[in-house]
Amino acid sequence: VEWTPEKGWHDARITPYGPLTLDPATAVLHYAQETFEGMKAYRHADGSVHLFRPEANAERMITSSQRLALPELPVDDFIQAVEAMVKVDERWVPEGEGEKSLYLRPFMFASEKFLGVRPSQHVTFMVIASPAGSYFKGGLKPVSLWLTEEYTRAGRGGMGAAKTGGNYASSLIAQQEATRHGCDQVVFLDAQEGVYVEELGGMNMYFVHADGSITTPATGTILEGITRSSIITLARQMGHEVTERRFAIDEWRKGVESGDIVEVFACGTAAVVSPVGELRSAAGTLPAPESTETTMKIRSALVDVQFGRADDTFGWLRRVL
Ligand code: PMP
Repeated sequence: VEWTPEKGWHDARITPYGPLTLDPATAVLHYAQETFEGMKAYRHADGSVHLFRPEANAERMITSSQRLALPELPVDDFIQAVEAMVKVDERWVPEGEGEKSLYLRPFMFASEKFLGVRPSQHVTFMVIASPAGSYFKGGLKPVSLWLTEEYTRAGRGGMGAAKTGGNYASSLIAQQEATRHGCDQVVFLDAQEGVYVEELGGMNMYFVHADGSITTPATGTILEGITRSSIITLARQMGHEVTERRFAIDEWRKGVESGDIVEVFACGTAAVVSPVGELRSAAGTLPAPESTETTMKIRSALVDVQFGRADDTFGWLRRVL
């Protein structure tokens, strides 16, 4: 789908997958004016196919578009485009067995050719799709974390809450640092004071306390995960008190050492929910709490809704096929 100020959104079409032809002066290649989403379609045991909270992805893309001075794609148009992609080939949504799904990647970019710093007057929105296997092959494995103290992800007034390539570009060097230290993911602290836990390279975080209450870092500079918000709702329904607040790295360390924090987990569309393993940093290694009981209970509750094994009490599923 294309956008210009004169025509608005127009020329919606489905074409066979293949390379794009872009002018070397296409704005996105130079100024990174773009935003994207990540979401999945799930096949249920009865063969039907469902999207999980697509309107939440559509709304998040609008929030990102506003921050990136991109035009807003209406929620209904976004969903229609994603549904059209799912329906391209009814067989490409895998059977639910083993948590397989169809991964969908809607994205929008500045497609005008010009070299200058201003919002693009030609914007392109596309959706690509690919069948995805289970994130955890060979069983659930905790993600090990590296705490970066050199790099931050987003400051106040920055783009932290937007899903845009620039955020990921700036996180790559920190992710490399994590990989060098043998860790799966990087933990980012806040840019202002460097003491509050924000999120991982591609996941949001949760801390489970001994009294059953749960804390998750507050929004503002983090990407507001759709998995994150679903977990807040589910955990509250399961009787947990959930607080969104600033959460200091010291509180994490001391909480694990004193036994106040009994579980740590991370969440995102790809892995859904994953236990967190040890936290490594220049200061040493913090072991992971042993329990994963609440983590796994929440994980099952969410995955069961996605695959139609539990009632969709919150109206999160949208049937496509
Ligand atoms: N934070 C970051 C930086 C991410 O890239 C992702 C993955 N999209 C998330 C959090 C989790 O978001 P969601 O639950 O919507 O996948």
